[in-house]
Amino acid sequence: MNMDSKLHDHKHSHDDHSHVRTTAQSHAHSHDHSHPHDRAEDVSTSRRDFLRVLMGGALSGASILELAYHRAAWARAAAPADDAKLFDLQKAADGVYFAHARPQTVINCNAAVFVRSKDVVVVDAHSKPSAAASLIAQIRREVTEKPVRYVINTHFHWDHTQGNHAYRQTGEKVDFIATAATKQLMSDFGMARMKASLDAVPKQIDAMQERAGRSSSAAEKAFCSEQIKQLRAYQADLKDYSLEMPTVTFEKSYLLRDPAFDLHLDFHGHAHTAGDVFVYCPQQRALATGDASHGWLPFIADGFPKKWPGTIDEVARADFKYVLGGHGPLQVDRTVMVNQRNYIEELTGKVEEGRKAGLAVAEMQKRFTVASLRSMQSNGYEAFLTRIQAAGHPQFGDPPPLQDGVNTNIDDIFKTIDRT
Ligand SMILES: [Zn+2]
Ligand SMILES: [Zn+2]
Repeated sequence: MNMDSKLHDHKHSHDDHSHVRTTAQSHAHSHDHSHPHDRAEDVSTSRRDFLRVLMGGALSGASILELAYHRAAWARAAAPADDAKLFDLQKAADGVYFAHARPQTVINCNAAVFVRSKDVVVVDAHSKPSAAASLIAQIRREVTEKPVRYVINTHFHWDHTQGNHAYRQTGEKVDFIATAATKQLMSDFGMARMKASLDAVPKQIDAMQERAGRSSSAAEKAFCSEQIKQLRAYQADLKDYSLEMPTVTFEKSYLLRDPAFDLHLDFHGHAHTAGDVFVYCPQQRALATGDASHGWLPFIADGFPKKWPGTIDEVARADFKYVLGGHGPLQVDRTVMVNQRNYIEELTGKVEEGRKAGLAVAEMQKRFTVASLRSMQSNGYEAFLTRIQAAGHPQFGDPPPLQDGVNTNIDDIFKTIDRT
């Protein structure tokens, strides 16, 4: 299936800034629990079969080989100072690269890098300017010396926007593109979230110092001091932070045309936030998804759990193969996208039923276990998440159990389930 015809109906030329709107809905953070006893229709599961057809087949051997080939090619091309890098740059298709963020104490999102005929488009900008600066240098070293002309912020979260400023500092002409809703959310919450992330740092440093003091393992002490070093670097990086706001906004669709390939920026509905952008390159069959679809457990606190699966179904109508998510590894088919979608749908259904039955959140967290969730036990989702989440964060010793993340999701769904 192809969504070109639909997209072209409401395309916006990137030179036509008359379409730029500065107003946006501000209903993203309603925490309205005033109707806890509303009865909703039973959640239908027949949709899953429809989706299986829509999403195509399961993971194929060929795609695994292809990914291994890309990884090996990029390993050979890597610069000598390999261990200082914050990202691994992998080629997904011609002109399409995936900047896979290495584990850091203060997380960085991944970026999608699209190399066009004369310039570069980067999707998402990490948690701090120095991380974005590091990626800019790495792109120049490993991919192209063309300047970055556009930075797309898929959504307002701090780990995707706080590096924007580094692109401004290159001195090249750069525009920051987001939905109008995301711009509004950045202006409402950007500074507060940044401050909250900084305020958490002293406690995190104390905890690491305590842990190092208790430990008799030299390796664990070294791990703790590395975490402390990274936390202090984050503090220093964000000390004089100012928001770099979107300069180009749109409501539904925005088209970046180029002789190399086109990039379709689309808002498909509420999902991870009220303003998620998907960046679709039809010629290279690549889709950058931000945090609306990625390889970690979803983060739902700012989300719309009842709308999210339907939004993914809309996205899935397009013809794509490479999924470049905001966290976790590059996907070369739709397995993880389907798994995550089904998990959100199933857990939301369970929380809704639990709420109707008058269950407390703590009781739901006991009942809705990883082992009992069909979506977790299908297509290897539990095994995938366990492996990927552990690899995505700095670890010493056992990573926290997956159920901890599911419990957070249950709590967040309970709080957000009435959002539309
Ligand atoms: Zn993120
Ligand atoms: Zn996010």
